[in-house]
Amino acid sequence: MSTASHSDSVRGGGRVTGGRTENNSAATKVAFLGLGHMGGPMAANLVRAGYEVLAFDPVPAAQDQARRDGATVAETAGSAVAEADIVVTMLPNGRIVLDLYGEVLSAAKPGTLFVDCSTIDVADAQEAAKLAAAAGHRALDAPVSGGVAGATAGTLTFMAGGAAEDFADALPLLEVMGGKVVHCGPAGVGQAAKICNNMLLGISMIGLSEAIVLGEKLGLTHDKFFDVVSTASGQSWALTSYCPVPGPVPASPANNDYQPGFATALMTKDLGLAANALRGNGVDGQIGLLAAEIYARYNQDEAGKDFSAIVTDIRKRSEGEQL
Ligand code: NAD
Repeated sequence: MSTASHSDSVRGGGRVTGGRTENNSAATKVAFLGLGHMGGPMAANLVRAGYEVLAFDPVPAAQDQARRDGATVAETAGSAVAEADIVVTMLPNGRIVLDLYGEVLSAAKPGTLFVDCSTIDVADAQEAAKLAAAAGHRALDAPVSGGVAGATAGTLTFMAGGAAEDFADALPLLEVMGGKVVHCGPAGVGQAAKICNNMLLGISMIGLSEAIVLGEKLGLTHDKFFDVVSTASGQSWALTSYCPVPGPVPASPANNDYQPGFATALMTKDLGLAANALRGNGVDGQIGLLAAEIYARYNQDEAGKDFSAIVTDIRKRSEGEQL
């Protein structure tokens, strides 16, 4: 496993030549497919760093924004890919990634490097890598953590899976969009890191929220809860950086009526991927499976709220003296 981090002063780009990368962003053509909340600002950062970006998204508003950001908008995904040295995808789910690979792989130059940054099943990521290899190309899974704020600021954490030499070739480009880039292992293992991290985050947010609601019932104020737990053994990132009740962490979504942030719909999706992986690999992951159920239920009513709003659901379901 290798890790790379950078500051603005070392940002650069890379041109893939014969499997190696030269640090020359201006000469590297990047096809960027999927210009949504995440992909739009990520593509804009590549343009800013000097890459020639050929962008595609079926949504006209996303195309307009990409033009304003300085990308060239292609008529089709295939025509963007045909000219590219590296293809980055940032798409909603694994089905769409696999369908799009099926559509564009034959249009790419031999040996093109495909980098999928979407959050998808480990099995789908491995299938995507196989399809790319069978078509004479190279592939990495490189999902991200850090949300829209990280995508905009170029400070995402990338978790990559694939061959070491392909990771090395993608690194200059990933360092433009990210603050930390980790090569986690072979194909699919980047997605494994993403799924494990987000399963833990979902579990810890539920656990924290249950503790906060219990504290409320027992007469413990949020400020005193934070004061004690933030430096005691129950401490977590969910509490100290993303506190689910207003007050202790002013920047957390709780202070803004739970506007995301990281929407419940996305946490529900990631916990669904984790649940599949737990079941598919025979892991006795009872808490992970329960967390997936709890978020799936909450998602039916509040998909657009930040995932930390689960505390409001737990509070509501705890009304009355005894359950
Ligand atoms: P989004 O829905 O805003 O963007 C997805 C984009 O893909 C849309 O603009 C859509 O039009 C486009 N698209 C769909 N089919 C396409 C096709 N065939 N060709 C080209 N474009 C196509 O989603 P997002 O929030 O940007 O998330 C993208 C991925 O990143 C997801 O897998 C998500 O789980 C992951 N992710 C999101 C966040 C977040 O905070 N939003 C954080 C980490 C990871």
